[in-house]
Amino acid sequence: MDYKESLPFYHSAAWKRVRALAMQRDQGMCQDCMDRLRAGYGIKPNRAQMVHHIIPLEERPDLALDLNNLRSLCNECHNRQHPEKGRDRRQAKEVPAGMRVIKV
Ligand SMILES: [Zn+2]
Ligand SMILES: [Zn+2]
Repeated sequence: MDYKESLPFYHSAAWKRVRALAMQRDQGMCQDCMDRLRAGYGIKPNRAQMVHHIIPLEERPDLALDLNNLRSLCNECHNRQHPEKGRDRRQAKEVPAGMRVIKV
């Protein structure tokens, strides 16, 4: 369990709403798995188990509810996104260019 899950933010109605929208946009599939599938790794994609902030919440709280900053991931891929507790800057450029934008 992530320490972040204890933050009040993750219990807010606004987060739950935008989290559901992100899952819907990503069709409930882990986007890292889907990227690897598209890249030809031939893996079986996992269903998304959580929604990750590409730019960490503590860095850009203003993007906390921005769908462009959200990515549905399985737990396995999510752990990979947090090698040193969410300090990995590489994530920012890993957003697919063709990622659809949904206005909330
Ligand atoms: Zn995955
Ligand atoms: Zn995360």
